[in-house]
Amino acid sequence: MHLKLIFSVICAVSTFPLLAITFGNKSKQNYIKSIRNLMFSAVLAVLANILIANSSREHFANISYCLYFSELDWISYFLCMFCLEYTEHNNFLKKIKPAATVLCLLDSFFLYVNLVNKIIFDVYTSADRWGSSYYLYSAKPIYYVHLTLDYLLILIGIIALSISLCKSYGFYRKKYLSIILVVWFIILLNIIYMLFLIKLDFSVLFYAIAGILIYYYAYTYIPRHIKNQAFGLVLNYMNEGLVVFDKDRNCIFTNSMARDELGMTIENSGIDSPIVKKFINNNNIEEETFTEIYHTEDEPHRIYKIYYHNVFEKKHRTLGSFFIFENVTQEYEALHRMEEAQAEAENANKAKSMFLANMSHEIRTPINSVLGMNEMILREANDDAIIDYAQNIDSAGNALLALINDILDFSKIEAGKFELVDETYSFQKLIHDCFVMLLPRAEAKNLGFTFKIDENIPCKLRGDKQRVLQILINIISNAIKYTQSGSVTVTASYSQVSDSEIMLSVAVADTGIGISDEDKNKLFDAFVRAEQYKNRNIEGTGLGLAITKQLTEMMNGTITVDSEKNRGSVFTVNVVQKVVNYTPGGAFGTQTETESRATGESFTAPDAKILAVDDIKTNLKVITALLKRTQIQVDTAESGTEAISLCSEKKYDLILMDHMMPTPDGIETFKTIRNGDGPNKDTPQIILTANAISGASDEYISIGFDNYLSKPIKSNELEAMLMNYLPSELVIK
Ligand code: ADP
Repeated sequence: MHLKLIFSVICAVSTFPLLAITFGNKSKQNYIKSIRNLMFSAVLAVLANILIANSSREHFANISYCLYFSELDWISYFLCMFCLEYTEHNNFLKKIKPAATVLCLLDSFFLYVNLVNKIIFDVYTSADRWGSSYYLYSAKPIYYVHLTLDYLLILIGIIALSISLCKSYGFYRKKYLSIILVVWFIILLNIIYMLFLIKLDFSVLFYAIAGILIYYYAYTYIPRHIKNQAFGLVLNYMNEGLVVFDKDRNCIFTNSMARDELGMTIENSGIDSPIVKKFINNNNIEEETFTEIYHTEDEPHRIYKIYYHNVFEKKHRTLGSFFIFENVTQEYEALHRMEEAQAEAENANKAKSMFLANMSHEIRTPINSVLGMNEMILREANDDAIIDYAQNIDSAGNALLALINDILDFSKIEAGKFELVDETYSFQKLIHDCFVMLLPRAEAKNLGFTFKIDENIPCKLRGDKQRVLQILINIISNAIKYTQSGSVTVTASYSQVSDSEIMLSVAVADTGIGISDEDKNKLFDAFVRAEQYKNRNIEGTGLGLAITKQLTEMMNGTITVDSEKNRGSVFTVNVVQKVVNYTPGGAFGTQTETESRATGESFTAPDAKILAVDDIKTNLKVITALLKRTQIQVDTAESGTEAISLCSEKKYDLILMDHMMPTPDGIETFKTIRNGDGPNKDTPQIILTANAISGASDEYISIGFDNYLSKPIKSNELEAMLMNYLPSELVIK
């Protein structure tokens, strides 16, 4: 009695995992579906077995045996289907499945017919040695047909697995081997069981165990095993090195790159090992992550980017950590080459800019002579034709000078030698100067020329006045240049940027030729001129706007253009300027010219003695000629040495010193005179320079020069300078 109870309980318990798998797994894969069906059949077979063990009537035992034998059919059937599906013998499966289904259905049917005619098996009672009685079955010959069918199905499954096992290789072998072993193991258990002739049929439990094992291998272990093997493959073939540590910082994996390139093996790469310490450097391994750059010491020299990661679980306890090594040697070398190339390009560009600056400097010197001499002709000639020729030389010379100045400015900006110089100025005065300067050009073309200036613009601003003027002259003269009829209107306003700064905004609108959309985009590039062919008669280099743009950007501003072909353009310039005095500057045209130099004012100083020093004779002639009408006594020296000797003999009221001379140059000569004991120790010295590189003027002042004049020298500037520095008692106005 006890034995039956134990048997029933064990059988009942064994159904739990089978039911859990049958109803818990939702996989859509065919072979998993077959396993689920197999499980369910096994559950029914186990239940049938419990009924057999506990049958008290023959009829009841008969029904239970029918259920048991028919479920054995279906267990074999689903096992066979699983094997064919799992081994992907799809064609064979298609052929065999209908026949197998029909045979199993027929077999099940005849097993139930046995209830009536008993042609397959019969049941009888038998008692064991403890007196318990059991219903056993006695098989009739036809029973072996049923048994053959079951074994045939299992055999087909084993053959399919064996074929696939033979065809497979590497770690895929495990896939089939594990299942075959399970099936053989169960068959072996069955045989052993039969040898013992136990009255209670435990064999069905083996099917249950087999189902669970097959399910575990097919659904869990093998896919995971294959996945792990595949990951291993990938990790070994990846270009990066990988070294993994467990929670105790022991190395548990190194991929082939880490082994081959860095010599890191599981044995030598604990986190405290010297090899790993090199990579850790000063970083903390408890940090979640860090990155390092590592240069190998050995040849060939390699550079690695190293990523370190700690992996934590939910409660922030370490699970492990890993290093990834990325060989970035090529990238670094490429970057290095790029940097070198960039430096080379920058140097070349600087050299080009310096060359341009020097060239324009060299060109300015002869123009100086040409324009100076020409001015003398203009002053002294009486013949109208000659005056006309000289005027032509003057305008062409000035155009050439403007061009050289543009190139000089541009190359200075490119060479990074351009600096803005802050000074306090009146915007109203500046815009008025612009108006006065450009009005004749607008009038010459019969253009309307209107200035609308916001009278609230603060009266004293601080910024680079010359460059603001340059920007405005550039865009206003362009507007005049590219307008044949109509008008040019300049509108100036401002907005507050901060307590001490305003954004000056000047818009120049014209009714000229306009600019096409296509040209608008490249307008601010150097040497670009829109419709080059059409505009070839209009003077220009295409540098003006490029310079203007750079200047506005240096003043934290912008320049924009709005234009319509044949209708006109509006150029708007915005620049940030500091405010010195917020008092409104007033309406346009009402300002007095307080800042103007004594231009045009003439004077004489017959008792004044000056020394002009220049190694180029023509320049000395120009200076002498320019000063002729002032009656100043001009001595000339053609070298520094001559100047020094003249200065030791005679006292001068002022010295005009050229900078660029063969040794000693202007600066050395200046120093010798200033630091000597001669009579000209304190004589004001003005340096003449064609060196317009930014900051140079400040440099001259810091050396000790009283002031500087840039070449080519203009007579009004020279006279203004002399009036400032000559002793006032010598100047007669
Ligand atoms: P440029 O010395 O040729 O005048 P800029 O850099 O000042 O050089 O101007 C570049 C080009 O932009 C000019 O060649 C001209 O085609 C176009 N441009 C500039 N201002 C105007 C304007 N107000 N109207 C039409 N075209 C203009």
